Amino acid sequence: MQEACRIVTKNEEETRLLGIRLAELLEPGDVLALEGDLGAGKTTFAQGIARGLGVEEAVDSPTFTIIKEYHGRLPFYHMDVYRLESSDEDLGWDEFFFGDGVTLVEWAGRIEELLPDHAVRITITVGEADERLITFAPAVERVHRLCRELRRE
Ligand code: ADP
Ligand code: MG
Repeated sequence: MQEACRIVTKNEEETRLLGIRLAELLEPGDVLALEGDLGAGKTTFAQGIARGLGVEEAVDSPTFTIIKEYHGRLPFYHMDVYRLESSDEDLGWDEFFFGDGVTLVEWAGRIEELLPDHAVRITITVGEADERLITFAPAVERVHRLCRELRRE
């Protein structure tokens, strides 16, 4: 079993850049399941993914709408399920999770039982000052490869 891959970013721009780089590797049906406290940097990372997918629109937090849809090289579905009343609420999850675009879920733990096995688990932890520890669970090989490459840079 591989180990989790960890990257430290030193500011907001580095976190966004990590998203941009990761986005190059993403394929239809990919699901990024993000965990991290309020202000950890989940939306910042999502902005990087969107930019890396070629989305030109500004991406902000979908806290009140739960799902926002964007179009770049692939469709990008940005979810924040923090305010979801219960995970029984059927928003047509599988159309996103097994669909034609990339889905990023903030507060993914709230819909844990709905997440597909192929979800890439990414956890952001706040460190000292503006440092963030970003951990990729050892799931998808191509994401893991990128994570290792980025660590060497
Ligand atoms: P979340 O979606 O997890 O609640 P946001 O991305 O909305 O978090 O906010 C992250 C906040 O933390 C922003 O104000 C950003 O400027 C700040 N920040 C400081 N350092 C970093 C970093 N290394 N990565 C991401 N955000 C950072
Ligand atoms: Mg957010």
